[in-house]
Amino acid sequence: MNRDEFASLVLDACKRMEDRDMTVGTWGNISVRVDDETFLITPSGMSYGSLKIDDIVMADMKGNTIDNKRKPSIEHALHRMIYSHRPDVGAVIHTHPQYSTAFAIARKDIPAVSEELVQIIGEGVKCAEYALPGTEELAANVVSALGYNNAALLANHGAVCVGSNLSDAFKVAEVLEKSAKTIIMATIIGTPKVISHDECLKMQDFVKNHYGQK
Ligand code: 13P
Ligand code: ZN
Repeated sequence: MNRDEFASLVLDACKRMEDRDMTVGTWGNISVRVDDETFLITPSGMSYGSLKIDDIVMADMKGNTIDNKRKPSIEHALHRMIYSHRPDVGAVIHTHPQYSTAFAIARKDIPAVSEELVQIIGEGVKCAEYALPGTEELAANVVSALGYNNAALLANHGAVCVGSNLSDAFKVAEVLEKSAKTIIMATIIGTPKVISHDECLKMQDFVKNHYGQK
């Protein structure tokens, strides 16, 4: 795929993030890994509906922007550090979704409560230590909370979701938000029960090795 093809995937994902109410206004940001050295990321503070292919900024793993028609998202260090720490990650979506952010505001982790969450994201979702948006400190805190899971919460802020490509990262964002919402609903009618570590491992092995047409 060439630069423009990758950039058009980012534009599609921006539209989807807006359509799914995963953010408001210009908040949130999206990137895709192009190769070992570079990634494409949304520009800072531009409305998603107005974005064109050449508004998407190319950045490298040293913190430079390569084409500088637009300033990159203020969270470029967050995206860069995730790509550096996680060779398996090909796309990063930072959302500001309602129910997941409720957990982030309460600074609570999301426990392992559903099959989807455990299979798609990991054994729960950790809330990172608070840091100001757009800082290296935020990036480091989130990388540490993310570990080898596919999502983390940003204290008093939102969520970050990763996947091998944009479509996988999107699935993570949807499962995360649905999980946050259903836990809040379950808390109204009873007490959510957490799935044990052993059961989580079994579910993860099943989806990896046996689920579907394998
Ligand atoms: P950008 O518009 O710079 O991507 O910032 C939005 C945001 O969500 C910061 O955390
Ligand atoms: Zn944000």
